[in-house]
Amino acid sequence: MNACLPACMPVNLGRQVNPGGRMPAPRQTGARYTSSTSMRKIIHIDMDAFYASVEQRDRPELKGKPVVVGGLPDSRGVVAACSYEARRYGIHSAMPSSRAHKLCPHAVFLTPRFDAYRAVSMEIREIFLEYTDLMEPLSLDEAFLDVTINKKVMPLATRIAREIRDKIRLRTGGLTASAGVSFNKFLAKAASDYRKPNGMTVITPDKAGPFIDSLPVGKFFGVGRVTEKRMQQLGIMKGKDLKMMSRERLVSLFGKAGNYFYQIAHEKDERPVTPEWVRKSVGKETTLQEDIVDMEIMRGILAGIAERIEIILRKMKLQGKRVTLKVKFSDFQQVTRSTTLAEPLVGSIRIMHHVMRLLDSTEAGKKKVRLLGITISNFTDGDYGPGSPVQLSLPLEGGASQSG
Ligand SMILES: [Mg+2]
Repeated sequence: MNACLPACMPVNLGRQVNPGGRMPAPRQTGARYTSSTSMRKIIHIDMDAFYASVEQRDRPELKGKPVVVGGLPDSRGVVAACSYEARRYGIHSAMPSSRAHKLCPHAVFLTPRFDAYRAVSMEIREIFLEYTDLMEPLSLDEAFLDVTINKKVMPLATRIAREIRDKIRLRTGGLTASAGVSFNKFLAKAASDYRKPNGMTVITPDKAGPFIDSLPVGKFFGVGRVTEKRMQQLGIMKGKDLKMMSRERLVSLFGKAGNYFYQIAHEKDERPVTPEWVRKSVGKETTLQEDIVDMEIMRGILAGIAERIEIILRKMKLQGKRVTLKVKFSDFQQVTRSTTLAEPLVGSIRIMHHVMRLLDSTEAGKKKVRLLGITISNFTDGDYGPGSPVQLSLPLEGGASQSG
């Protein structure tokens, strides 16, 4: 999501929070979900072409037209979202807006109105909470719900998903959402993507195997564009190819993520649905309007980011011990530098003190910089909530798929 925003747009759509959750220890028995009593019911809801749909709702003259939300064509910005009409021209999120303009010169380009999107986001989250408090937002327009036990005592997750989609349409002035229903997060997310827009897919345990077999690896949650390319070069095109690889081989190829790929290919994903308040990090970043080499300008930009982070941390009553600096250079090479302190970092001045030391350990100043970001994590006890889920580190570069 971060990559999908226009230049100079401060970003914090909560992506850093996810994918949260605990990966299970490898099971010795190879047990499958055979008993319905032990099976979870997970729904993934994803609004269709969210930002663009909100624009088309608020400006009916845009209905049926290619609409691109994000950077304007003459900027260095990128496409944050686009309508299905625009997708027909090959436009997709994270593409430079200038390229989108070349593909479809008559598309309507709009800068994002995050307040409007946030308002809709609040409305749909209210609907989710009518059913369960186990609701984990992935971004403004996407969330996982665990409805195994739900407030309405409804036995069928499919029925709940249908009701939620109806309520969204009624209460948001006609916006549509797609839903995936399954017994784990990975399958629920892949399912919501399967019949977009305005569709619903249910994957029961007996259908999970064939579904995964035919799923292109690029559609796997956690496989970004880089990993997808790498897998394709190795001849891993679909789930069935992934399934044929041993765990050891996948780990040797993809590190820790290989273990995750192995598990999901075998239908195993026991990550819990983690409510938003179990927040694990707060981060912000800025893509610069022009690449810069001047360290003083970088310091000024980072100080601004640190101040914004301080405000959020104060509002959320969070204190973190770890600070991470992210630097992307003009050649798109990206580095992160972190330091963990014994005591929580309080105040933007202290944050900046460490950020500048981290900056000195990069090539910034020698090389031109195009993006700067700061993240605070390792919050002190009490802020994690029960369970303290372990962060699952995954190469989520670029996101698994176009966020529809
Ligand atoms: Mg979406």
